[in-house]
Amino acid sequence: MIQDVLIKKIIQNNTSKHKIAEVNKYGDPFFKAIRQTDFLELEKDEIKAFLWHRKTWTQVFLISGEMQLVLHDTRPESLTYEKTEIIYGNESDNKLVIIPPKVAYGFKSIDDKLKLIIQYSESRDPENLDEIEIPENDPSINFNWNLNKDIFNVNIEREKINLLVCGGAGFIGSNFIHYMMNKYPHYKIINYDKLTYAGNLDNLRDVENKDNYVFVNGDICDYSRLEGVIKDEEITHVINFAAETHVDRSIYGGCVDFVLTNSLGVQMILDAVKNNGIKKYVQVSTDEVFGSLKLTDDSKFDENWPIMPNMPYAAAKAGGDLMCNAYYVTHKVPVVVTHCSNNYGPYQFPEKLIPFFIFKILAGEKVPVYGDGLNVRDWIHTEDHAKALDLLLHKGEDGEVYNIGVDNERSNIDITRMVLKLMGKSEDMMEFVKDRPGHDRRYAIDSSKIRKLGWDPKYTKENFEKGLKETIDWYLNNKDWVIDIQNKKSGEMNVFKR
Ligand code: NAD
Repeated sequence: MIQDVLIKKIIQNNTSKHKIAEVNKYGDPFFKAIRQTDFLELEKDEIKAFLWHRKTWTQVFLISGEMQLVLHDTRPESLTYEKTEIIYGNESDNKLVIIPPKVAYGFKSIDDKLKLIIQYSESRDPENLDEIEIPENDPSINFNWNLNKDIFNVNIEREKINLLVCGGAGFIGSNFIHYMMNKYPHYKIINYDKLTYAGNLDNLRDVENKDNYVFVNGDICDYSRLEGVIKDEEITHVINFAAETHVDRSIYGGCVDFVLTNSLGVQMILDAVKNNGIKKYVQVSTDEVFGSLKLTDDSKFDENWPIMPNMPYAAAKAGGDLMCNAYYVTHKVPVVVTHCSNNYGPYQFPEKLIPFFIFKILAGEKVPVYGDGLNVRDWIHTEDHAKALDLLLHKGEDGEVYNIGVDNERSNIDITRMVLKLMGKSEDMMEFVKDRPGHDRRYAIDSSKIRKLGWDPKYTKENFEKGLKETIDWYLNNKDWVIDIQNKKSGEMNVFKR
């Protein structure tokens, strides 16, 4: 049975309305408040298919006639994802079917005039995309309404996914692995990481012994090793986080490794994807490839914004992005490229702004703010980034680019003040230092394209303080992780002092 769908038998021998009232009285928490009741009538062989609600629970009760109710699970997180099921019923069955949000449902009247009562747990708001109608012949549901009526179950095999995560031992990659292993316990995850100074296997201690997780120490620029792993592990999908990512290093420490990993490495992955029948490749890139916006206007980067990187890190990332486009156009490689804004969350190497400040404050030192502190970034929690990447891995369109951000623009000085306040420190702990060269003034993301696919982030602008507090608490509560990284990586942490 499709996960979370409930079928209740109503035993009271009263009128239909009473029967439903009884069930609701004793019944389901979702139906404490019924917001809307509809009556549906269908002639023989008439079909009403498929409806899909983002938030609303639906309950269906049959008053007269005989029906075929078809359910199709569209929730990627569900164990019965993409499974279709048929329920038959007539009025003497006294069945009440309770359908969770995001399970699509449709009806066909079989023998007689069909009369149904349909109730909703929230008032539906089609304007707000709560209700989506799917055509009865939608190929993604792949359902034949003319099926013989004695078929009760359509068994659709669950897709087997062996996911190669390149750069999974870094900050966002390890958060993504946690997210995916939790949500899809039936996927196999192969983490392929070179373990540069930024790679940290302590980020994955809690999953390292699981049967469906494998770590391989490898470089994305090493084609034969990469392809060997793809073949041995029968990889079906690839996502790439592997990169040299620290802007200050690309400025002060030379940028050969940046060009190698961020551009050439991506080309190696593209070749491996092309040569091994991979179904989807998601290339994780950054909004920094677009260059800088002005502080003085309210424009945002959309997917058509020109690529105009201002620093070596971003230029090397842009090289990889453009190669993805070329491989899609030339070779039809099934690649999707993302441009995400600044991330915050657990497991971030403390050379980046938020953990860098937390570590400084913990050490009783002042926090250095570049220039006038007015540079603006659009901050997103790693959990929302992971959610977006999960969606694109399953539903992203080949050859397309998607921008990811939550409309949470904040100046560096505001972030500094918030971190100090949340850690109980005064603003005296802040000091301004010389700006770095090529420091982009403002980034802001227009994410309407991925939102149309159904991405619904949790840590919106209103929830930012909550997300930031949870992040600070994570670093305070995970002292072992903090102490280990300080011991093992102390030589790397202050290489490029502000
Ligand atoms: P990170 O520096 O924390 O991790 C990078 C990981 O890649 C490390 O584990 C490292 O060992 C690995 N790696 C580096 N070179 C490699 C190679 N040649 N082969 C295999 N593995 C290699 O980076 P992050 O902050 O987690 O960023 C991940 C990705 O997301 C990057 O591609 C970055 O451009 C992108 N991104 C980051 C942010 C952000 O705010 N951090 C925002 C948008 C996009």
